[in-house]
Amino acid sequence: MVAIERQRSSSDLRVIAIDWSGAKSGARRKIWLAEARGGRDGGEPEIVRLECGRSRREMERHLLEEAEREPELIVGLDFAFSLPAWFLREHELTTARELWQLAAREAETWLERCEPPFWGRPGKRRPALPSHFRRTDADVPSVGGVRPKSPFQVTGAGSVGTGTLRGMPLLRRLSDADWRIWPFDAPDLPLVIEIYPRLLTRAVVKSSHKARDQYLAWRFPELTAVRRRLAASSEDAFDAAVSALELARHAEDILDLEQATDPVELLEGRIWLPGPSEAVLPEPSALGTAASSPLPALLSALEYAAEKHRDQRRRGPEASPYINHPISVARVLAEIGDVSDPILLQAAILHDTIEDTRTTPDELERSFGAEVRALVEEVTDDKSLPKKVRNQLQIEHAPGRSPRAKQLKIADKISNIADIIGRAPTDWTLERQREYLDWAERVVAGCRGANRALEECFDRKLREAREAVG
Ligand code: ZN
Repeated sequence: MVAIERQRSSSDLRVIAIDWSGAKSGARRKIWLAEARGGRDGGEPEIVRLECGRSRREMERHLLEEAEREPELIVGLDFAFSLPAWFLREHELTTARELWQLAAREAETWLERCEPPFWGRPGKRRPALPSHFRRTDADVPSVGGVRPKSPFQVTGAGSVGTGTLRGMPLLRRLSDADWRIWPFDAPDLPLVIEIYPRLLTRAVVKSSHKARDQYLAWRFPELTAVRRRLAASSEDAFDAAVSALELARHAEDILDLEQATDPVELLEGRIWLPGPSEAVLPEPSALGTAASSPLPALLSALEYAAEKHRDQRRRGPEASPYINHPISVARVLAEIGDVSDPILLQAAILHDTIEDTRTTPDELERSFGAEVRALVEEVTDDKSLPKKVRNQLQIEHAPGRSPRAKQLKIADKISNIADIIGRAPTDWTLERQREYLDWAERVVAGCRGANRALEECFDRKLREAREAVG
């Protein structure tokens, strides 16, 4: 509950962000440290160093020495500072600190055995658990379809479990050295907070060097070319650099943080979010490339939709991954309809996210802008209505739709009909298939005039499909 004395100006503060790694070998290459200074009072933040080369133990020593020298220090670390509260209760741990102590003894055994609740090693499937996530993991807004992974997952893409278990001993050491760990302790300096770099780097396509470079140029125009090149050089360097700069920008807010009072939060901790005053997510049109090249935005939509539909399958006999469908709709638009409009292509990739996944229109707007949102909403059925009504409304609303929505609808029906030919959902009778074709024909009748090539393709597919179902 104690806010730090306000006579400290944020410009005296040093801010360090660490892109952590739980890797058994090669951690020296993977753990990056970025230090930034400046921020709101002191003008634009700048990177004063950006480096890798320390092991986990060396990083621990380094931080302790740095704080010894100059304690006015905020450090952001990107692993989960605790585990879901039920786990602590089950082990009769009353504080996160006790968990760090336990992890300092047991982490290697947990990782090696990979018994439930831990999972992810070959043959160690996701177990049923009271909860896989801390409350804060679930509360963090999705960025480009990406959300925090479960701290119990110890291997696999983007998993954080290993870094978390091998990071807890560091928290214990810092805590022993009287560092404050937020939100468990009342903040004072030196202070450690849990960060989730995805929130700070926004929906940028991190695997693309060019996208990283352009993002840095857009978000931190003051960075020198040399710093920018280094920060863009790898995903880890990028995460560390962007995190440090964002922390420096928000240093004053961080100084105002309060200790948790909620019992669950006191056990589980909380991911630090930049203040609500500033949107967490991007202005996609400002992301440098959007105007000159539609590719980064399109790839970002693809990554987002793939993540959203990750657990869904098509209903055909092959049960192919659901994402194949939106990809095919976008391909039909581009290839047959000769569409190169990035808004329409992004919306095609995203067209089923609101209807069939837990994506909200606001989320889409934050990640892809208002036009994409509006277009996806235009082609989204109101799922609160019975199926029959929805189908009738699709027919009735089609003529009033925008030209983009009409093209998207036609491409959607082409893709669905192409699937029906030979690969109809296994539970669809021939009669059901015929009904679908009649209905699709009526929807497309209301979309005519939007794209001749698409309409002709639809007519062809419809004929073929009718021959196939007799
Ligand atoms: Zn569809």
